[in-house]
Amino acid sequence: MQYIKCPSCNGSGEIFMDDLGRPFQCDTCRGNGILLLPSRKTLCPKCGGTRVIFLPTGFSSAVQTDCKTCEGTGFVSA
Ligand SMILES: [Zn+2]
Ligand SMILES: [Zn+2]
Repeated sequence: MQYIKCPSCNGSGEIFMDDLGRPFQCDTCRGNGILLLPSRKTLCPKCGGTRVIFLPTGFSSAVQTDCKTCEGTGFVSA
C-alpha cells in the first residue's frame, strides 16, 4: 500500500469547473488530495485513476461512463 498524489486534482483536493466557474471537491480522492494505491496495482492508464471516462456523443457534448479498463476502480494490476 502506498499513498500517491491524486492525478485528477494534482493533490489539491479540488477541481476547478470551468463550466461553473468555481471549484468542486475532487471525486477521485474525495477531497483528500491523495489516493491509497493498493499493493501490486497501478493507476489505470485509460482514466488516470478517475474511474470514469468521457465518451463524445456529438459536437460539444460527452457522456460520463465507468472506465471499462479498470472496471471503475481506477487501478489496474501492475
Ligand atoms: Zn483528487
Ligand atoms: Zn480506468
